[in-house]
Amino acid sequence: MVEMMIVVAIVALLTAMSIFSAKSYFEKARAKECRLNQQAIFNAVWNWRIDNQFLPGTSVTNFQLVPQYLRSTNQFKCPTCNLLYGPVFVAGTVPRCPGNVTNHVWKTTDKVGF
Ligand SMILES: [Zn+2]
Repeated sequence: MVEMMIVVAIVALLTAMSIFSAKSYFEKARAKECRLNQQAIFNAVWNWRIDNQFLPGTSVTNFQLVPQYLRSTNQFKCPTCNLLYGPVFVAGTVPRCPGNVTNHVWKTTDKVGF
């Protein structure tokens, strides 16, 4: 009987550990996706500016970017807070995570695709 209880306790512990690590795995994946979205928007706005011969600082709406510069409108939303990065972006300025979630910050000095 005691052996049975020990086995049940170990299984419960392992289940709790796997649920905890799965949650942190998915949050890390969403943080990376948010940073990749910011990078994609930054580059799309910059390329739009060059193609349309505007100076840095020019404002661009998200409708001007899809589908030529960004493949999907899904990239305009943070996967964690599900809010839009903004209806308007400024060429040369990195969009910020709308929920200001920790680890959802991409800088132009970060590695490409990191
Ligand atoms: Zn985010």
